[in-house]
Amino acid sequence: MKTGIFGGTFNPPHIGHLRLAEEASERYGLVKIIFVPCHQPPHKDSSNVPASSDRLNMTTLACAGNHRFEVSGLELNFAAPSYTVNTLKHFRAERVNDIYFIMGSDSLSEISTWKDYENLFILANFIVVDRPGISFSEAWNNIPIKLLKNFSQDHDHFTHTSGTLMIPSSIKGLDISSTEIRTLVKNGLSAKYLTPDPVLDYIREHNLYSF
Ligand code: ATP
Repeated sequence: MKTGIFGGTFNPPHIGHLRLAEEASERYGLVKIIFVPCHQPPHKDSSNVPASSDRLNMTTLACAGNHRFEVSGLELNFAAPSYTVNTLKHFRAERVNDIYFIMGSDSLSEISTWKDYENLFILANFIVVDRPGISFSEAWNNIPIKLLKNFSQDHDHFTHTSGTLMIPSSIKGLDISSTEIRTLVKNGLSAKYLTPDPVLDYIREHNLYSF
């Protein structure tokens, strides 16, 4: 069973995340996509990050109603910071074997800062979508040569020596970011249509991002 794992800060989740998961599921035949909010993001400034439970709740609200979407609080049980390599090992141990990890090209470009990054590509296939400002090729060029050497190009994807795939996806990432939503809310402006209404209601009720 092909399973998508979608890790992120989800601070807050938005339509860009949801469309990416929906299209990836359709295009690559992923039976389910598990959204995994991280505990304390190791690569990001942790100021102005709401409680992990808030991000988990907002992600659950955002995913409601899509029978292929699931949300896992797994990383919230790890001691902070959370590492993707541990998450992938966990799902493998749970016998989720055909894993497709979904990410934007901005995340791929920083992959060499991730713990045990070389092992990530043994544990899962990767689907990478372009984000505004950085294409897949630019991100790929940022990857250490010793890692690139493990891949061979095969038409529209790359195959790792372990047999996993790196798929540069032509899914068009929407030009929406969590940063944009946080900035709008902070400035008292509307973020409607950038994230589902229940997420906006949650932000309002819990007074997130307004200071
Ligand atoms: P921030 O603006 O706070 O940096 P973000 O919008 O990038 O947040 P994250 O939760 O950090 O959201 O993203 C999780 C994953 O989703 C990352 O791999 C990121 O590249 C990807 N992603 C985020 N927004 C989009 C989008 N609009 N289209 C495609 N991928 C996205």
